Amino acid sequence: MLIDFHSHVYPPEVWKKIVARLEDFYGVKARRDATAESLNTSLENACIEKAVVLPVPTRKEHVQPNNTYYASLPEKFPRLIPFGAIHPECSSEILKSFSALGFKGFKVQPNAWQTRPDDKSLFSFYELAEKLGLIVVFHAGDEEGGVEGKYSRPGYFISILEEFPSLKCIFAHLGGYKRWDEASMLYPYPQAYFDTSYTLGILPPDEFVEIVTTISDKVVFGTDFPFRDHLEEKELIKEYLGEAFLNRLAKNAQKLIT
Ligand SMILES: [Zn+2]
Repeated sequence: MLIDFHSHVYPPEVWKKIVARLEDFYGVKARRDATAESLNTSLENACIEKAVVLPVPTRKEHVQPNNTYYASLPEKFPRLIPFGAIHPECSSEILKSFSALGFKGFKVQPNAWQTRPDDKSLFSFYELAEKLGLIVVFHAGDEEGGVEGKYSRPGYFISILEEFPSLKCIFAHLGGYKRWDEASMLYPYPQAYFDTSYTLGILPPDEFVEIVTTISDKVVFGTDFPFRDHLEEKELIKEYLGEAFLNRLAKNAQKLIT
């Protein structure tokens, strides 16, 4: 079962506004509508069984309404696996409600929060997440459009990996968007996983292949929908590495999510 471990959708009443802002800031163009419906269609088209949906609230007031919305998704769209929303200014106690809401983890977006991932305000989240078996997806490296990842350099994750050896971590964009050399310092940690989101077609094919084969037992498929198209991403991986590698990605994801 292939899982897209990195996708974003927004509530129907706000997605247009949010995507317009992201397009403006990063100079990128969304490929699809950023709605649950459109994600579901894109998954169906590419025969991808599931997608992890990652909310990223930029204000703490959005956390509660986000969580109510994302928790409601699987009932209508069983392919979707929503993660919960957090914010560094809210209490980490919120993680205790995640299992009842069906959330298996949360995303940390250091640049959107202007907070380094190794900021002490986040450590109580990691501590509790480790205890509860929740997965943490970290944005890692720079941002698109030449926006420097001031708060998300790969090196900033080291103290988290050292301090929380059982915390399941996924570093997006193969560990550091446009910082792939630096990202390799994260490879040796057994609890560190890496997603392929927004790297295909940006990394030269030989570099992509070299990285994912180096970390082949800790890499998972991710797209960054709605900025990427599922079918295209899947086909590129098939072209570079063959169908068997997709099975490997599926197996790695399953290890994490179950
Ligand atoms: Zn993302």
